[in-house]
Amino acid sequence: HEYFMVYQPVYEVAKMEITSYEALIRWESPVIGAISPAEFIPLLEENDLIIPVGRWILRQVATQIKEWEKEGQTDFRIATNISVKQMMHPDFLNNVKSIIEETNVSPKRLIFEITESVAVQNSGLATAILAELNELGVQTSLDDFGTGYSSLSILKLLPIQQLKVDRSFIIEMEQNEEKSLVILQGILDIAKNLGLVTVMEGVETPEQLELLKSMGAQKVQGYLISRPVVAELAIELRNQDWKY
Ligand code: C2E
Ligand code: CA
Ligand code: CA
Repeated sequence: HEYFMVYQPVYEVAKMEITSYEALIRWESPVIGAISPAEFIPLLEENDLIIPVGRWILRQVATQIKEWEKEGQTDFRIATNISVKQMMHPDFLNNVKSIIEETNVSPKRLIFEITESVAVQNSGLATAILAELNELGVQTSLDDFGTGYSSLSILKLLPIQQLKVDRSFIIEMEQNEEKSLVILQGILDIAKNLGLVTVMEGVETPEQLELLKSMGAQKVQGYLISRPVVAELAIELRNQDWKY
C-alpha cells in the first residue's frame, strides 16, 4: 500500500485543451522515503514483480477512468507505461482483457506506452501483441523516441499511433544545437506524414512551447503545463482556461 499513481496532463496544441494524461507510479516508503520509478521499476523487472505490479497499475488506471467518467468527464485518455517484460509475458494480453472486462473500462480511453527495446527483443512477437491491442481498441505509443537506437525502420514495423519525442531534444535545443533542431524537425515531419500523433516530452518554458508549436508539434507534456499530480488535481487542470 505504499504505491500510488499520479497523472501528468498532455496538452493538445490545436484544441488548446488537456486531452490526455500519463499515469506514473510513485513509491513513498515510510522507512526510506520517496523512491524514483526510474530506480525501482528496473528492479521490479529484474525479479518479475513487474507482472503483478503492472497488473495493479492497469487496474488503478482503469478504475480512475471510470471514476472520471462518473464525474462527467468526456474525451480524455490515460496513457500507461508498459515495461518490456510485462508486455512480452505470455499472460499479458489475457490480463489486459480481464482488467477491461472486470472494470468495464472503454479500451478507447487507454494508451499503452512502450519503448523501442520491445522491438529489439522480439519484433515479431511485439508487433503481434501491439496489433492485438489495437484490435481491442487500445492505442499504442512509442516512448522516449530519439534516445537509444531510434531506428526509423521501427516506425514502419510497429503498429503505433503515437510517438513521444524524448526530453533530451529540448535540452539540446536550449543549448542552441542546430543539428538537434534539424533532427527534431525531421522526426516531427516524418511522424506527421506517417499519420502518427507526436507528443513532445519535458516542455518547461513558454519559449520552448512556442518554438515547438512553430515546428508542428501536436501535443506537449511537461512542467510548463503541470507536474505529475494526484488524480483530483489532475482533473481540475482541465477546467482551466488555457492560453498556450
Ligand atoms: P517516462 O515514461 O519517460 O516518464 C516521463 C518522466 O519525465 C516522468 O518521471 C516525469 O515526471 C518526468 N517529467 C515530465 N515532465 C517533465 C519536465 O518538464 N521536466 C523534467 N525534467 N521531467 C519531466 P518519473 O515519473 O520519475 O518516471 C521516470 C520513468 O519511470 C518513466 O519515464 C518510466 O520509464 C518509468 N515509470 C514511471 N511510472 C511507471 C509505471 O507506472 N510503469 C512503468 N512500467 N514504468 C514507469
Ligand atoms: Ca512514458
Ligand atoms: Ca518518455
